[in-house]
Amino acid sequence: MIMVKKKNRKEIIEVKQRAIAPMEMVDPRKQVAFAKSCAEALMDIMKKKEKKVMIGDEQYLEFEDWQTIARFYNLFAGIESTEKIMESGHAGEEFAGYSAKAVVRNNQGIVVSSAEASCLRSEPNWNKRKQYDKEKKIWIEVDVPEFQLKSMAQTRAMAKALRSILGWVAVLGGYKPTPAEELDNGEVRVKLVKKVKEPFTKEESSRKEILKCSDCGKQITDAEKTYSLKNYRLVLCRKCQGKYKPKK
Ligand SMILES: [Zn+2]
Repeated sequence: MIMVKKKNRKEIIEVKQRAIAPMEMVDPRKQVAFAKSCAEALMDIMKKKEKKVMIGDEQYLEFEDWQTIARFYNLFAGIESTEKIMESGHAGEEFAGYSAKAVVRNNQGIVVSSAEASCLRSEPNWNKRKQYDKEKKIWIEVDVPEFQLKSMAQTRAMAKALRSILGWVAVLGGYKPTPAEELDNGEVRVKLVKKVKEPFTKEESSRKEILKCSDCGKQITDAEKTYSLKNYRLVLCRKCQGKYKPKK
């Protein structure tokens, strides 16, 4: 296991590389050449965007752009877990936001990067929103719906996990490695009371990747994957594990 620690905006992001991606075995010059062509393809897409995220004259990558780079490398981002954050308020426990954990897997289902991110009510953009009341014909302020904060926490976590492993490709294209979704994440703190684990919604479960044996392609369970990764450093079903030598 290789541990890479990166300091970024006062946070420590741990990138756990449990397995060596096939790319890393390739000649470094070929790797750079491949990354450059990825960066060029990305630049073409970024220039054609109708709504560009700009700060000054710098354009920032949005989640979908990180997914584009990920596709070039056969990497996939997914959500591992989501938690509801509660804090103490005037009326007892109040909703404070969501935090999510995301992982990036290679095409063998092996986790190559992970990250956590949150979206909080105390952030200016995620508290109140103006909405037009058609009956009263006036603009009113409403709470930003909780599901939108949940979705943003997940998007940020996935973008962050992709950034950890693919940030250098974005930099080659001349872009900032900070995902656009993180820009409105001000330095806000909440007094935590507790975090409540959120079960996956039907939609989220279907988005979760199906785990497959990297040898025969048979579907496997989470427990089988964990056992196999620990003992074989490969995602294998029980039957196929017999074909491989256990690794220490
Ligand atoms: Zn198998």
